Amino acid sequence: MSHLIRLIFTKRMLLLLILYSTSCISVKKVPFNQIVDTANKKIHFQKKKNFYFKDVGVHFTNQFEGSRLNNVVKINDSIFEVQILPENIPINSSPFYAFKVWGNQTKKIVIHFKYPKQFKHRYIPKIKSNNLWVVADSTRFSLSDSLSILKLSINPAPTLVSAQELHSNESVYSWINQLIVGKEAFVQLKNIGKTKLDRPIKVLDINKGKSKNKPIIVLLTRQHPPEVTGYFAFQAFLTEIFQQNELTDNFLEKYRILAFPLMNPDGVALGHWRHNANGVDLNRDWSKYRQPEIKNTVKYITKILKKNNSKLILGLDFHSTWYDVFYTNKDNELTEIPDFSTHWFEELESRIPKYEVNEKSSNSETPVSKGWFLFGHNAVGITFEIGDETPKDRIEIIGKEAAKAMMNILSKQ
Ligand SMILES: [Zn+2]
Repeated sequence: MSHLIRLIFTKRMLLLLILYSTSCISVKKVPFNQIVDTANKKIHFQKKKNFYFKDVGVHFTNQFEGSRLNNVVKINDSIFEVQILPENIPINSSPFYAFKVWGNQTKKIVIHFKYPKQFKHRYIPKIKSNNLWVVADSTRFSLSDSLSILKLSINPAPTLVSAQELHSNESVYSWINQLIVGKEAFVQLKNIGKTKLDRPIKVLDINKGKSKNKPIIVLLTRQHPPEVTGYFAFQAFLTEIFQQNELTDNFLEKYRILAFPLMNPDGVALGHWRHNANGVDLNRDWSKYRQPEIKNTVKYITKILKKNNSKLILGLDFHSTWYDVFYTNKDNELTEIPDFSTHWFEELESRIPKYEVNEKSSNSETPVSKGWFLFGHNAVGITFEIGDETPKDRIEIIGKEAAKAMMNILSKQ
């Protein structure tokens, strides 16, 4: 073999070796007591279309990102039944809907929500008109076991009706891009992989100064698409970390944050109730990582930990449920910060007047992120749940004070 060929050959081998070492990060699987099948399932794609009732001049549409509306039936001249289906079953009862409605003329209409019979209405409608979101009050919306009814005054400008405010891919990343302006020295927005439908999975890597041996905190949100109130808390939390003051300066010198602002981009874009485009609940995949969203997230975290000889010490996963609650792990003795949640909750209560932390502690039986933090990394794992209908200004206070309290406690460690 000539020198030249040998040189090319070894260079190529070296390149392959480098590629291999970055793409084949070995991620360790984490065992849980209960196995959940997270293999791909078939999903039902909603048909994107306009529904026009010519005789009464009323239009509905689902032709926008994040919508969910499977069919509309006219009951009489002013009552319309909107039919909403999940992406696949079995699924948690979190019927998400989002559609636009308008009339050729101003008109009062009544909307009946219809789901498959095993599911009940969950979310109070949020209505966007003139660029402003309003929660439907009891004069407009009523909910009983058998029927949920929304009264609406429509006009030629489309009114958006949605289970929660719509914060789809574009709105999440335009918020992120604004947030990180001027902070390029210590924040990087990186693509770490792609979803089934080719949407990017992104991470914000936040690190001031050195990176070797630096403890790492992971923030996650939107594994479940409709859980927007949890995302609001995540926004307030992250915004506080980006404030420039002594507390954040000290904190970011000591800790690195990996923040994942949109864990389920396909599910969010498709208006899903809970699953990704493979019909799987991502927050049951933290054992074997069969879904691209979790696999790429775990790979990235593992790569950063190994490269920097760092330890993951805390993971916060922002969700929504019926009320505000912190789900914690029972056994934190082996973690680096075993008393963290006790101190965090105490400080949170002292910072927010008339606020009482609702903590539910349990061992994670199914493969959820909270259990993965503990069993996989001996890290404190907390599911930060905000109520579906907790007011936005309240969420902002909780998210903000939670970030300050965390930084304060960890800066003293
Ligand atoms: Zn959730």
